[in-house]
Amino acid sequence: MNFCSKCGSDDIHLKMEQERFVRYVCKACGTIHYKNPLMVVGCLPIYEQKILLCQRGIQPCKGYWNLPAGFMEMNETVTQGALREAKEETGLDMELIRLHSIYTSRKKNQVMLHFLAKVKDLDYELNEETVAIELFDFNAIPWDQLAFQSNIFAIQNYLDSLSKNTQSLFIGDSLKEN
Ligand SMILES: [Zn+2]
Repeated sequence: MNFCSKCGSDDIHLKMEQERFVRYVCKACGTIHYKNPLMVVGCLPIYEQKILLCQRGIQPCKGYWNLPAGFMEMNETVTQGALREAKEETGLDMELIRLHSIYTSRKKNQVMLHFLAKVKDLDYELNEETVAIELFDFNAIPWDQLAFQSNIFAIQNYLDSLSKNTQSLFIGDSLKEN
């Protein structure tokens, strides 16, 4: 941070709080500029015992397969955000079943929520962000072509939950990122 977003001063100082948290403090106006993780919301779309994945047309991880997800906007709920992102990236209306996984990336400063979602029909639309949409059998997930650790986490745990016949909420985190 170079300038204070409140008063425009460049007199920004770093301060440690509880010896762990970095704070950006404006010496001119005294404002503390907190930096907190961002929320990413998305869907794990299921259609007739298959998982719907989107092929990314943009960086990062262009060409890799992704669950539809994106940053939560102000003035929306997590469920509205997940449905909006699914609609934006696939053109599809989905029906949320339940919250499936929460994944914290400390490296990216993001928290990713994935909701299990039922795809109602396959009348999808591609766009700049999504250049292909495919349904994958549970035993044919393109593991080495999946974008982001959070996707791997969500899909692996979904398949595990099917084999164990549970409906757990999966909570994970990692400092390692692909
Ligand atoms: Zn200031």
